[in-house]
Amino acid sequence: MKNSILSIFKIGIGPSSSHTLGAMLIGNMFCKTLEEKDLTCNINRIKVDLYGSLSLTGRGHLTDVAIILGLSGRLPETITSKEIEDIIANVTATNSLHVNNTHRISFIRDKDIVFNPTFLDLHENGVTISAYNENELLLEKTYFSVGGGFVKEKDSFFDEDSSGTVKLAIDFKSVQDILDLCKTHGKSISEIALMREMQHLSKQEIYDYYKKIWEVMDCAINNGLNTFGVLPGALHLPRRAGDLYKKLNDPNNSMQQDDFNTINWISAFALAVAEENAAGHKVVTAPTNGACAITPAVMAYYNKFYKKLNDDDVVKFLLTASAIGYIYKLNASISGAEAGCQAEIGAASSMVAVSIAEMLGASPEIACCAGEIAMEHHLGLTCDPVAGLVQIPCIERNAFGAVKAVMSAKMAMARNENNPPVVSLDNVIKTMFNTGKDMDSKYRETSLGGLASVIKCELK
Ligand code: SF4
Repeated sequence: MKNSILSIFKIGIGPSSSHTLGAMLIGNMFCKTLEEKDLTCNINRIKVDLYGSLSLTGRGHLTDVAIILGLSGRLPETITSKEIEDIIANVTATNSLHVNNTHRISFIRDKDIVFNPTFLDLHENGVTISAYNENELLLEKTYFSVGGGFVKEKDSFFDEDSSGTVKLAIDFKSVQDILDLCKTHGKSISEIALMREMQHLSKQEIYDYYKKIWEVMDCAINNGLNTFGVLPGALHLPRRAGDLYKKLNDPNNSMQQDDFNTINWISAFALAVAEENAAGHKVVTAPTNGACAITPAVMAYYNKFYKKLNDDDVVKFLLTASAIGYIYKLNASISGAEAGCQAEIGAASSMVAVSIAEMLGASPEIACCAGEIAMEHHLGLTCDPVAGLVQIPCIERNAFGAVKAVMSAKMAMARNENNPPVVSLDNVIKTMFNTGKDMDSKYRETSLGGLASVIKCELK
């Protein structure tokens, strides 16, 4: 998957791509390095230091759990909910860790994982993992979880992204590049994205990948719509998607006559996936876990009420969103810790606005205008999750992001073509990043400001 835009969508576990998915990958990467250096059997202690946002919201985002799973040699794509429960229960009961599933060492979760509120220099989400034999340090590595489940090692932080190392005949590094390619080849955004990807993957591989992604998204929707009860964590927040879905399907409910039912349906789909994410279940980063529900909600609405999605439609929708998400990642950020919620919910809404506009027949220019509108009206959106949980405001915010994506597409498609937009999607992407960097760190996934500081809640 190196050099591919497909990795904007990745299968993982909730609730956070940077704090859970990235943290799990970091634990796993450290294990692999131990193996490569033939050190696994020589160590008898591991210490994990979490820094910055990973520390400040790490308990609510299950970062410690994710690191343990990664150090146990597990990967997010294949682990089951039962395995997660068993591994964590075992570590807690035995005060030991089965490193890479091969070598058992003493490990006291509350002592060997340290939550340091300070920030490392290179990025807001830092982790240092140290492995010892008695007091002798055998290996120490620092990693950064840079958003969307993407991870960088400190030693290679400034190395060019793998996307830049392989020269592709058809490539893009900005929205303008995409639009120029569309014009040159007389193609849509998804067709250009497909041409780019087919330089390193077969068409079958691309189709298989996105079919699997949609399967997981669809499964999360169904699970979320049919699960009731309370979400994990100190807020004891009741799930709402199931009740809403029941009302929407009840022929005697007044919602049947609601002229605004489109919004209810999109909200039900979005709440369902966001609640599954908050429960720590399997979802797809889109482009992050926090914003995982916007893409599936709009796809599900399209599928149920507009036109049944076939394989071509699924690939078309997700390729377009991947291309735009890739530009956000390349030129700005998809990390709430780096640039606030505008980089997660805002980026997701913008990606989906472009996709749904293209699905509804918009030209590449109009589709990108939809993406610009969606981001423009998320600018300045802070990240202030209450009690460090990906629940308030995150769950409802996914529903808003999904509705805004559709609204942005409709607004762009209603424009007079002789009246081009003043702000380009490239410029709003840059503005989002600059706005994020100007935000006080208390509004960037630290739970020290905003709603989180007003509604304080003891974590249990
Ligand atoms: S407020 Fe937004 S960026 Fe922050 S955790 Fe929630 S969804 Fe993610």
